[in-house]
Amino acid sequence: MKTIGYAAQSASTPLAPCHFERRDLRANDVAIEILYCGVCHSDLHAARNDWGGTVYPSVPGHEIVGRVIATGPEVTRYAVNDHVAVGCLVDSCRHCDQCHHDEEQYCRHGYTGTYNSPERVTGENTLGGYAKHLVVREEFVLRLDKGLDLAKTGPLLCAGITSYSPLRRWNAGPGSRVGVIGLGGLGHMAVKLAAAMGAHVTVLSRTADKLADALELGADELLVSSDADAMAKAANRFDLIIDTVPVKHDINPYLPLLDIDGTLVIVGQVGPVSEPSTIPMIFGRRRIAGSLIGGIAETQEMLDFCARKNILPDVEMIRMDQINEAFERMERADVRYRFVIDMASLPAA
Ligand code: NAP
Ligand code: ZN
Ligand code: ZN
Repeated sequence: MKTIGYAAQSASTPLAPCHFERRDLRANDVAIEILYCGVCHSDLHAARNDWGGTVYPSVPGHEIVGRVIATGPEVTRYAVNDHVAVGCLVDSCRHCDQCHHDEEQYCRHGYTGTYNSPERVTGENTLGGYAKHLVVREEFVLRLDKGLDLAKTGPLLCAGITSYSPLRRWNAGPGSRVGVIGLGGLGHMAVKLAAAMGAHVTVLSRTADKLADALELGADELLVSSDADAMAKAANRFDLIIDTVPVKHDINPYLPLLDIDGTLVIVGQVGPVSEPSTIPMIFGRRRIAGSLIGGIAETQEMLDFCARKNILPDVEMIRMDQINEAFERMERADVRYRFVIDMASLPAA
């Protein structure tokens, strides 16, 4: 199937229109017309090769919402015209212990990412959701509740699940005290989800600029992380802190904010952070952990939770040809709080 998308041709070139082919449908495949795609900071990291290993041309995008336009002969879960979603995963080995435990993101043989992964059958580099069409095997397609607003649902597929999974794993709920570092795409979903779970939520932001927004999103307070006095007063105040900062940073100021047995979960920076001191860990049994998106079953659980609780991201709709400007704005943290591309703006020809 011929399609069109936006691709980076190198780490230093802006994204530009690119024609390419989606594979012919295999027995278990679903073909999707993409209607909307969220813009994750990981898309920017990948396009610019921040993590190394980007294969060009690179088509980012893993917060995908669309309509089924065709199904392979063995597809049982989806039919033409169903509204569906695809997140960060499009395949895994499906046989290892992690896959059997519905944690395909930790597949022993490596998951297949929606973009920048070798496709399991052909070995070709996967191309993501900044495009008109996508072909995915049905086990990696998510069902959307009829109540969800399609134009706003995309960001749940990465920002939503990446926040939801650690909140669930570390039992956020009534009586728990959750901190969220960085009020961006992930951060604002972490606030909404943690508040909906009943936790006491504090945003840790670099300035007080986002205070009104934080409260509106459901946070109980905002702590300015550059204010040393306020940080000192907040010692031992959190059971769980989710760190969404996208660049190398110093986590030492945050560790003493955890209570005994508290956990700092890093979901933002992939790579080195400044040297952490072991003192707060030893003198308080505090932990530093990480977390990667979530499995397919948990992603479906999160989507159903959001439909039930009426939780959606705050989005700014853009045209496909505004993507380079959107990347620049995202780098300046000038987005409230997620860009979503309206794929109708991408001409089919
Ligand atoms: P985003 O929308 O750009 O938000 C990041 C937020 O971090 C900003 O709004 C800002 O909040 C804060 N920040 C930005 N630059 C900073 C700096 N230099 N120092 C300190 N704080 C800074 O990004 P996102 O889409 O939420 O993604 C965040 C990170 O998570 C990215 O690195 C992305 O690759 C990663 N990610 C990981 C997973 C996973 O599975 N673990 C999944 C998706 C994304 P304030 O203005 O409030 O300080
Ligand atoms: Zn993402
Ligand atoms: Zn596996």
